[in-house]
Amino acid sequence: MIPAAFDYHAPATLEEAIALLGSLGEEAKILSGGQSLLPLLKLRLGEVSDLVDIGRIEGLEYVREEGDRLLIGGRTTETALERSDVLRDRYPILLDTARVIADPLVRNRATVGGNLAHGDPANDHPATMLALDAEVVATGAAGERVIAVREFFTGFFGTALSTGEILTEIRVPIHQSGDGGAYLKLERKVGDFAAAGAAVQLRLGSDGTVTSAGIGLTNAGNKPVFAGEAGSFLVGQTPSDDAIAEAARLASTAASPSADRRGSVEYKTTMARVLAERAIRTALERAGGN
Ligand SMILES: Cc1cc2nc3c(=O)[nH]c(=O)nc-3n(C[C@H](O)[C@H](O)[C@H](O)COP(=O)(O)OP(=O)(O)OC[C@H]3O[C@@H](n4cnc5c(N)ncnc54)[C@H](O)[C@@H]3O)c2cc1C
Repeated sequence: MIPAAFDYHAPATLEEAIALLGSLGEEAKILSGGQSLLPLLKLRLGEVSDLVDIGRIEGLEYVREEGDRLLIGGRTTETALERSDVLRDRYPILLDTARVIADPLVRNRATVGGNLAHGDPANDHPATMLALDAEVVATGAAGERVIAVREFFTGFFGTALSTGEILTEIRVPIHQSGDGGAYLKLERKVGDFAAAGAAVQLRLGSDGTVTSAGIGLTNAGNKPVFAGEAGSFLVGQTPSDDAIAEAARLASTAASPSADRRGSVEYKTTMARVLAERAIRTALERAGGN
């Protein structure tokens, strides 16, 4: 449980961090809450030449609505999400997600930016951000780049971040009347990673039909899964048991999980369907529907 040697840097500003990352090259890593990275280093599943700790940079921790977006700073912790009034009132899907990640000690340090940047298909925020059609802001030597989350996850633990880029902000479309969302996760015991998870964010029009819908799945493939066909199917529907069941079935067809100690392929795929169905129902309730 002792990591290989590395040099540690604690820049005070974003500019300093970006300059450091530029000079240190590909073997350096960003350290945020350390809740994924430090276990990997301690177990010697990875080695780094340098750690650039972004924890002392001010101004990267916030949750606020601005213009047509909810903005979340890249270093915002899960605990801060749990305590956010704006999330409780208007973005319950994000509160659902933060609450089921690990345990309070981990959530005090783990950051939303780190959760996404890590690219783990078992992490909970990716599915939720896919459902929400969020964007991330990557800041590097060339300035800021805005990346749609639906383009962000590129493969097993792979993301669209380039070496030296820091995920500084997450942008979520602002809550509108008729919006509802939910995240549900099946875990073997409290605090565990998901055996399966489903996130649903939808909007109901004034006539009761679904006008937009996004569905994301956790631990359902080698990268976070966006179940686009299932969401598209729901759009234009007046929600009924049959329509909800068919959307959930379509969501599960997007899943291609691997068997592991959390379950077989069949079990995880079935649970993805069951959780998607329940999440659609909760999202509809929260949107003011049936
Ligand atoms: C006991 C335990 C249980 C856990 N259970 C869950 C769970 O149930 N669900 C879940 O989703 N997660 C879980 N996790 C994982 C962890 O909570 C998340 O992955 C965490 O949010 C990572 O954030 P961090 O700030 O700690 O990132 P770090 O560990 O500091 O970094 C993780 C990776 O992301 C990179 N990185 C971090 N921040 C940035 C940034 N701003 N810009 C660019 N790159 C960055 C780092 O270089 C590193 O590669 C668990 C962890 C532990 C220790």
